[in-house]
Amino acid sequence: MGKYKVEINKEIIDKRKEWEKETIYKMIHLYCMKNHDKDKQLCDECVELYNYSASRIDNCVHKKRKPVCSKCKVHCFRNEYRNKIRTVMRWSGPRMIYYYPLRAFKYLYYKMKY
Ligand SMILES: [Zn+2]
Repeated sequence: MGKYKVEINKEIIDKRKEWEKETIYKMIHLYCMKNHDKDKQLCDECVELYNYSASRIDNCVHKKRKPVCSKCKVHCFRNEYRNKIRTVMRWSGPRMIYYYPLRAFKYLYYKMKY
């Protein structure tokens, strides 16, 4: 029973992580398109930022209940990247509702729930 529960948790958390990586990719992409004059692909700087963010999400310390990164108390991002991702989130965050409404609502739901 206990083991079963742990596996369920892991599955849920893994799905959340995949979803959050997709979300962060979309946010960086939106930001890059409009601010770095890129079209389909991310610029080198944003690729690096995405890879770093994805690795942070993969190695997230939260095993049971994972808060959304913007609400997290563990500062796992290195300073330079934290500043960069903040800039991206501040810019793309409000625009997500317009570009990806379902995803934006789901994000708000996670933000309230966890
Ligand atoms: Zn860029």
